[in-house]
Amino acid sequence: MSEPQIAASDTPKWVYSFGAGTSEGSASMKELLGGKGANLAEMAKLGLPVPPGFTITTDVCAAYYDNDGTLPDELKPQVDAALAAIGEATGRNFGDTEKLLLVSVRSGGRASMPGMMDTVLNLGLNDVTVEAVARQSGDRRFAYDSYRRFIQMYSDVVLGVGHHLFEDILENYRNLNGHSLDTDLSAGDWVEVIEAYKNCVEEELDAPFPQDIHAQLWGAISAVFGSWETARAKTYRRLHSIPDDWGTAVNIQAMVFGNMGDTSATGVAFTRNPSTGVKELYGEFLLNAQGEDVVAGIRTPQSLTEAARLEAGDAKPSLEAVMPEVFAELSEIYDKLEARYHDMQDVEFTVQEGKLWMLQTRSGKRTVNAALKIAVDMVAEGVISEEEAVERIDPMQLDSLLHPTLDPNAERTIVAKGLPASPGAAVGEIVFNPDEAEKLAAQGKTVILVRIETSPEDIHGMHAAAGILTTRGGMTSHAAVVARGMGRPCVSGAGTVHIDYDAQIMSSGGETLKKGDIITVDGTTGQVLKGEVAMIQPELTGDFATLMVWADKLRRMGVRANADTPRDAVQAREFGAEGIGLCRTEHMFFDHERILAVREMILAESEEGRKAALDKILPMQRDDFTDLFEIMKGLPVTIRLLDPPLHEFLPQHDEEIAEVAEALGTSVKKLNYRLGELKEFNPMLGHRGCRLAITYPEITEMQARAIFEAAADAGQKTGDPVDVEVMIPLIASREEFEFLSERIIAVADAVQGEEGVKLKYSIGTMIELPRACLRAHEIAISAEFFSFGTNDLTQTAYALSRDDSASFLGGYIARGIFEVDPFVSIDTLGVGELMEIGIKRGRETRPDIKLGICGEHAGDPASIDFCEKVGLDYISCSPFRLPVARLAAAQATLRGKKAKT
Ligand code: ADP
Ligand code: MG
Ligand code: MG
Repeated sequence: MSEPQIAASDTPKWVYSFGAGTSEGSASMKELLGGKGANLAEMAKLGLPVPPGFTITTDVCAAYYDNDGTLPDELKPQVDAALAAIGEATGRNFGDTEKLLLVSVRSGGRASMPGMMDTVLNLGLNDVTVEAVARQSGDRRFAYDSYRRFIQMYSDVVLGVGHHLFEDILENYRNLNGHSLDTDLSAGDWVEVIEAYKNCVEEELDAPFPQDIHAQLWGAISAVFGSWETARAKTYRRLHSIPDDWGTAVNIQAMVFGNMGDTSATGVAFTRNPSTGVKELYGEFLLNAQGEDVVAGIRTPQSLTEAARLEAGDAKPSLEAVMPEVFAELSEIYDKLEARYHDMQDVEFTVQEGKLWMLQTRSGKRTVNAALKIAVDMVAEGVISEEEAVERIDPMQLDSLLHPTLDPNAERTIVAKGLPASPGAAVGEIVFNPDEAEKLAAQGKTVILVRIETSPEDIHGMHAAAGILTTRGGMTSHAAVVARGMGRPCVSGAGTVHIDYDAQIMSSGGETLKKGDIITVDGTTGQVLKGEVAMIQPELTGDFATLMVWADKLRRMGVRANADTPRDAVQAREFGAEGIGLCRTEHMFFDHERILAVREMILAESEEGRKAALDKILPMQRDDFTDLFEIMKGLPVTIRLLDPPLHEFLPQHDEEIAEVAEALGTSVKKLNYRLGELKEFNPMLGHRGCRLAITYPEITEMQARAIFEAAADAGQKTGDPVDVEVMIPLIASREEFEFLSERIIAVADAVQGEEGVKLKYSIGTMIELPRACLRAHEIAISAEFFSFGTNDLTQTAYALSRDDSASFLGGYIARGIFEVDPFVSIDTLGVGELMEIGIKRGRETRPDIKLGICGEHAGDPASIDFCEKVGLDYISCSPFRLPVARLAAAQATLRGKKAKT
């Protein structure tokens, strides 16, 4: 918030008036006037019928807190003058028993905030003025109904006397007098209820309900400012990243009454349909009601248009039918508002005795489908540019279009709730074992894999499953990351679920389900549901595709996919990947038929033994790559050499150990001894990545041969030369890199000689250790590209295990120590600086070094923005995240351009 300029000669302007065709504010003044105030001013300026009023600025909010909760002295004369101006415009005055003015007091910050004070309507009523209203309106019941509403609202939001106390009084009164509805109460009834209300306030507060209307007004103003610091508002701000120093404004506005009989009404409306985006008047209204009645749902509202009424099969008439003139005026106002704001508007209006009044306008919330349609339509209408259309869509919103979702109207029985780890919903039979998941899937069954947690050995089962449920682990647990990568819906960390693997049952909340029972997991909300819940399949509309084309034209960075299998690669191409930025080869090893050969290789005593085992793997690995290359048709493919820690390959159970011992021709005892030798205390920091390859260079040589032979093959078959990038994981030094790259080059030379072809390949590294960032200038002497592996880089920069941090990271975020989970959004200050160092030093040695990112962060819009800023060449994310990444990358480019100008 800007410092209020307090100078004796120059009193700051604390109050901005609007109404009667003029205003001191405008839509561009949201910071000072808040969203509601700025838009009320703008509507008045456009000549729309807005009840006159004024806005007390957000600067006053700052001053209020700077002065320990007191309002600045200069405010009062300015408020008095603005009240007098309302008097001139309306011919009514505050407290004037001949021509009485009542006002509403409305909070309104820059961003709309439900955590703030509610609106107080009908302010200015007391025991005396209520009689004036009765006289002037000729309707005593209306007067006393308004008064009791005011006492109720004011006591609740300003005096802190609970709403429910008044509800109880009213209910008692109705019961005693045999009334079933509020509308049955007469003026006399309300007089009695009001007495009871006032007594209640006096009992609660030891002070009477304020009769001084000026005290009421200032009480309400202070309450609005005070509500900025309530726990509810603070929590809301934290959850929605609204800065604490923005402050709120206060709007005071002449009341108009929608509850003055059947020529009066109140309603809410959208300039386009917020769920479909179709350009049609959309909304609802209530005859003879005040604003809050529509929201409160006391009566069922009526449709605005005849068309909507007919479609809904509603017997009650539409606004179009009962108030044709008001309807026509509202339609004109819609056009004016859209022409001014260049966006779909959400408005509040009230009709008092046949006259229309506008009470609010703002950009309307909409579903993602509506957002796409509106953006694309508005470009066609010439209202906005393609750039603006691209800027308008929230990339994260697109995510929901890319997965099946539960039908919101379907009935559901929730058995547990976990984390929404991977979006989309899936239905299937419960299985507790990955092998069984694979077996049943092969028989054509749809299964949900339910595990306490998952490990790399479960991958085949995860692949086979339609959805995954774990009872432990956070948003970045193995299950969550792998499921997102595969596009499998996943609920992780459903802590109330207890699994008994032996009995093959799971129980939660008194419900016990067994193997074969049907469940639904909703990875979008984290819900676990009993039985089958109906689903809606994703539909990529033409508008969606159109917007993607515009985004692609605007973005600077390339967009690739992390794809391990041919199936992933096909999906990646469908969602617009321009290459594969990360193909993890470990799943190729964990495959059921191969793991034995892999174990033989690791546990072999001699080099020959190892080579023999590797020879079995080579053809299978080569076939995997050939498929992948053919699908990618000459687009770049980055293949990462084997990465996981050694222990993940080792046999675990007695059965497996016996099997490997037999294959190796050794005893179980000897093998167990060898396994003991290989055990690591901290495998993530142990014998993995390039370290494993340096111990067993034969693995790298085998993988290189499989890659190059496949490249030669696929290139010849398709006629598109394969563009392969061989990526070495976990490099910390130039020496490690060169030890392996020399061997890879030797294999490439050999294959080129054997096949008589020239291959297009490069060799580079993951940058995922802090030391690699620091020594990037040396590594870049030999490495032709860097791909930032930000999962491990975050893990190693913080020394924070992503598999173990879920249990306490929540507490860090709740206490504000971390703003966001650094595994979700790049920590730009720490991890980001390491990246910047790596980029700068890498480019010093090799100016044209190709730079990418392949961590989970590459699908996160905030992280993508950072990647744009530091000048990466491409981002690589899960196939299902590609549309999000393409849009976010375009928006990042646009932001970058704007920042420069
Ligand atoms: P919110 O931000 O919760 O929508 P508002 O300040 O917009 O709160 O007001 C709540 C309700 O009171 C709305 O229906 C609004 O139209 C109505 N309202 C606010 N001010 C007036 C007024 N001056 N005359 C009539 N109705 C009003
Ligand atoms: Mg409102
Ligand atoms: Mg890694």
